[in-house]
Amino acid sequence: MQNRYLEYFNQSPTLFIKFKDSGNKIDYITNNVKTLLGYSVEESLSDDFHFSKLIHKSDLKALNNEIKRLNICNEIELSAYRILTKNSNYIWVKEIRKKFYDSKANKEHICSYITNVTKEINLKKNLFYTNKVIKTVYDNSVHLIALLKPNGTVIKANKTALEFINKQEKDVTRKKFWQTEWWSEEQRTSIKKEVKKASQGRLVNNEKLLFNKYHIEFTIKPVYDENRVIYLVCEGKDITQAKKKEKKITHYNEIINKQLISITDKNGVIKECSDAFCELTGYSKSELVGNRHNILRDPSSDDEKYKRLWETITLNKTWRGKLKNRTKDGKVVWVENTITPNCDENGDIETFTAIYNNITNNKKIKEKLITDELTQIFNRRHFNKIFKKYCKKFKKYEEPFVLMIIDIDYFKQFNDNYGHLRGDEVLKTVAQTIKSNLRKCDYVFRIGGEEFAVLVSLNKQNVSKIIAQKLKNAIYELNIEHEYSFYKRITISIGINDINKKPLLKKRTQLFNEADKALYRAKNSGRNRVYTF
Ligand code: GH3
Ligand code: MG
Ligand code: MG
Repeated sequence: MQNRYLEYFNQSPTLFIKFKDSGNKIDYITNNVKTLLGYSVEESLSDDFHFSKLIHKSDLKALNNEIKRLNICNEIELSAYRILTKNSNYIWVKEIRKKFYDSKANKEHICSYITNVTKEINLKKNLFYTNKVIKTVYDNSVHLIALLKPNGTVIKANKTALEFINKQEKDVTRKKFWQTEWWSEEQRTSIKKEVKKASQGRLVNNEKLLFNKYHIEFTIKPVYDENRVIYLVCEGKDITQAKKKEKKITHYNEIINKQLISITDKNGVIKECSDAFCELTGYSKSELVGNRHNILRDPSSDDEKYKRLWETITLNKTWRGKLKNRTKDGKVVWVENTITPNCDENGDIETFTAIYNNITNNKKIKEKLITDELTQIFNRRHFNKIFKKYCKKFKKYEEPFVLMIIDIDYFKQFNDNYGHLRGDEVLKTVAQTIKSNLRKCDYVFRIGGEEFAVLVSLNKQNVSKIIAQKLKNAIYELNIEHEYSFYKRITISIGINDINKKPLLKKRTQLFNEADKALYRAKNSGRNRVYTF
């Protein structure tokens, strides 16, 4: 019979010990000591085996205190303590200690029932720490957190949420969430609806304005146990600052979009441009972005200027200047340009920002001032300016140039016989023909009724005559009928003054008169010819 109990004990997870007297020495111990502590029964019964020596030092004192209670009662349940196993691990155990009397000897015995509770203790510990972490997060979160019952009653609210309304937890708990100070009167109905929605298991995600002041990103999340919603977690994130920034950025964007701005990469490909810039150029943003900036460039504009522009900005310097552009439908737009390189953190150029000023109207006024209305080439006023400039350049840099004066032959007769209107047409045609037979960098002016001047920069000697012959022939080739001319067509005579001799001591009027004299000789020697002074 007794053996059957023993068998039961040996297989049970509970270790049974009967101590000798009330001391440390073991009188009887069940087999499962091997499973629990790693010692065999024999080892446990030996004289060297001291059970109390296996107990963790930190637990011993409290344990001894508890054991004292055995003096006043027969059975005590000890708090969990740590005990060292044979392979040097501590395990957590719980012990029930009993005192009983031997009926024969009337002698006191101590028995212990010891169970391994390491798993439970560890689990408890983990839970404890997890709870601590959750609590810390909850308490110190910068977000507003409130825990509700599914019916909307507030159970808890964290510090941040309470600070928002300057209340304590007791002021909000047991209230319905929509009745709390977080919400204004107008918001209560909608909050109630949202709580209901969440209690039905749907996630509420919204933006709310608290106290007409704080922008809150607001969620209500249902918490489930099995299929049942047991709590609602409300969370509010204060996004007021972000909203303000966003507004500021939008505001700046609006300002920028009203300015004429474009950003290009290192190769001049447009990366970004303002609305105003699109409007000015007539292209849509998608047409401009990804395209090279020179789709806007006027074909007649000066290559040298663009070369200097690129040289400047690729040296990480700001370029300022005027550029002639064309809109999508071909209109001329003049812009005053400031192009600034933008560098990355290593100082390498990444992009260029161009800021423009539309100066088309100014340019138009200026152009009008220097343009001859009938022929649309430069006028006398501009001739005076450019002629002066050429003379200065020659004095300073010895850049030689040529002055030509051109006069239409027998033009009075043409007017008298074909009429002034036809005469005007001839003037226009002659002006444009001269212009189109010169280079882009050369100048042609109408300096009088049927008189033109040409200024050409020239490095080579004696080329001026060739150019003049070309012009003279071009007019001849037009073959404009003029019955009262010796040549039966419109012709021109040209007087040339090559200005290439240093030092230039002559005055401008003299240089002009010399060209005029050459023209006079061309006239006198039969017209439709070229003469060099
Ligand atoms: P030459 O071969 O010696 O140059 O003889 P010309 O008849 O061309 O010279 P002249 O100076 O005697 O005449 C110039 C004429 O040019 C006078 C006028 O009829 C004409 N003329 C001047 N200005 C205008 C203009 O704006 N429109 C038109 N249609 N004719 C003009
Ligand atoms: Mg004349
Ligand atoms: Mg004439």
